[in-house]
Amino acid sequence: MAKSLPIKWSASRANLLSACARRYALQYVLGKEEESEHYDRPSKLVIDQGRWRPPRDLMVLTTKDVLRQRLIEAAGGVLWSHDAMEATLERKLKRRIAEQRGQQEHLARRMGWDKIPQRRLSKAKLTELVNDGMERLVAAETHPLLCRILKGARDTEWLVPNSLQTVDVDGNKIYAAPDLIIREGRKWRLVRFSGDIFWPKPSALRRVELNAMILWAQESEGLPNSPRKYKISRLGWNDGHWVLWSQQGSVKAHNEVKKLIANDVASMRQVSRTMGPARDVDKLAYAQQMWRCRKCPYRWTCQGASNPIRARLEQEAVEVENSRSQLTE
Ligand code: SF4
Repeated sequence: MAKSLPIKWSASRANLLSACARRYALQYVLGKEEESEHYDRPSKLVIDQGRWRPPRDLMVLTTKDVLRQRLIEAAGGVLWSHDAMEATLERKLKRRIAEQRGQQEHLARRMGWDKIPQRRLSKAKLTELVNDGMERLVAAETHPLLCRILKGARDTEWLVPNSLQTVDVDGNKIYAAPDLIIREGRKWRLVRFSGDIFWPKPSALRRVELNAMILWAQESEGLPNSPRKYKISRLGWNDGHWVLWSQQGSVKAHNEVKKLIANDVASMRQVSRTMGPARDVDKLAYAQQMWRCRKCPYRWTCQGASNPIRARLEQEAVEVENSRSQLTE
C-alpha cells in the first residue's frame, strides 16, 4: 500500500477546514506552494487570493511583525525609538497593502473583471491604521511581560523562533511555533501574540493552538521534553490594553491536543480523498453558515459566496443525479 504523504497542520488550517472545506482545499490543496512559484500560475493566484485580508487585519499582522523584530533586535542590544518604530510599521504595512492590491489587479485582469475586488485605501485610513498599530507597540513597552526584554534586559533569556519552522509529530508537519519564548527559572514560557480579543480567556479552539506550542517546543532542539516544564500564554489586545492569559503546561492537555490534531489530520486527508485524483474542488461542501463567506477571500470567485446553503442544495442535487446515471449505465 502506498505510504500517505505527510499532512501540514496549523491551527489556522484546522479552523479553515471546520469553517469551509472548499476554502481549505482552495488554499492548501489546490494552491500547493511547491507548484506555485511562477506569478501567473493558477495555483499561485489561488494561494495569493487565499491570503487577502481586510486592511485592519493587515495592520494587526504587521504590528506583530514589528514587535517580533524589536524583540529579536533587543536580544542583540539594539533598542528602537518611536520614530523608527512608526516608520517601519508604515513601510511594512504599505508594502503589504500594495502587494495585495497588485495581486487583485492581476486576478481582475485574468478574470476580465472591470472592477478590483477591494477599494483602494485612502491616506486617512492608512494613517488611522498606523496610529492603531503604534498604540499597540507603545503599550507593549510598558506591559510587565515585555517591558524589560524590550529594553534588552541582560538577566533574561528569550528567543523569537521562525514562525515557518515546522516540527514532525507522528509523521506530519506541525506549524505551531510560539511568537516568543522566555526562560523563567526552570520553566519556559511560550507566548502567542494575538490580535483583537473579546474575552481574556481563550476559546477551546484557541487553547488547541496554544497547547500545540508545547508539541512544537518538545520537538525543538535545546528545549525540555516534559509538558510540565512549560507555561503557555496569550497576549491579546482588548479595548486599548494588552491582556495576558496564562496556563501551566500539563500532560493531560498535551495528550488531548495530540488527539485533536490527529483528528484534524484525518479530516484533512479525507478532503484530498473526496477531491479524488483530479483534485475536483466541486466535490467539496460549501460553508455551512453564510457569515463564513463574508470575510472569505474567495468570495469574489466562489459560487457559494452569495448563498452557500442554496449552492449546497444544488450541489447535492448534481451528486444524486451523477450517482443515478452511474447506476443506470
Ligand atoms: S466563499 Fe464561502 S463557500 Fe466559498 S470558499 Fe469562501 S467560505 Fe467557502
